[in-house]
Amino acid sequence: MNAVVEITDLHKSFGPREVLRGVDLTVAPGEVVCVIGPSGSGKSTLLRCVNQLEHATAGSVRVLGTEINDPDVDIDAVRQHVGMVFQSFNLFTHQTVLENCTVAQRKVLRRSKAEAEKVALENLARVGLADRAGATPSQLSGGQQQRVAIARALSMDPALMLFDEPTSALDPELVGEVLAVMRELAEGGMTMIVVTHEMAFARDVADRVVFMDGGTILEEGPADQVIGTPREPRTREFLDRVL
Ligand code: ADP
Ligand code: MG
Repeated sequence: MNAVVEITDLHKSFGPREVLRGVDLTVAPGEVVCVIGPSGSGKSTLLRCVNQLEHATAGSVRVLGTEINDPDVDIDAVRQHVGMVFQSFNLFTHQTVLENCTVAQRKVLRRSKAEAEKVALENLARVGLADRAGATPSQLSGGQQQRVAIARALSMDPALMLFDEPTSALDPELVGEVLAVMRELAEGGMTMIVVTHEMAFARDVADRVVFMDGGTILEEGPADQVIGTPREPRTREFLDRVL
């Protein structure tokens, strides 16, 4: 089966500072990969290189078979298959929940209003928020807003979902409802790359855990192995701090 993401020797510098120093990562269809590691290790930059929010300095990033570092690539054609959920929910504050979930469907996928709304409501139901379609983001809790952000991404029928610390901005009591939605998505076969500090979630849900440190992947393997019995002292040190 063809990989959904295939990253080879990826380098990314900001000015003189090299923040990704040769990253290789392949994600198979249906696979859930959790990326862990200290702040500043390059996790967000890695995700951002996968949908071209950052342009790689060197190396190859293939997404759904397309080399996205190719200067001639139609990046919008690739991006429409990649959903991204950020720490800050990035909802449009002056639109309703339903509108948030239909805008891109209409603009990018050219769906009719009726079809876009139908798809949006299906996905809002999936995240448990069908009854809040008419609300505005400010009327929702942080956990609900993040679930809307997930429904919005899902409404584009993505082949890949990227999550960058989706629960880090939430009050602790709201983390669980977002992780539950992500878990269901994973169990439904979605291909996912998840940057997270939620080790219990990573251990339970991830097929593979990747530990990043200093712009490289220092260790990767099955979740139980990397989190339970890490090989590298740096991984152990990190886990001792966060667990
Ligand atoms: P992480 O997500 O693991 O905390 P990041 O990928 O956000 O790490 O950042 C890796 C390093 O790159 C950090 O030192 C950060 O300061 C730097 N960095 C990230 N984005 C930029 C940018 N746009 N310009 C300059 N430096 C950046
Ligand atoms: Mg980050």
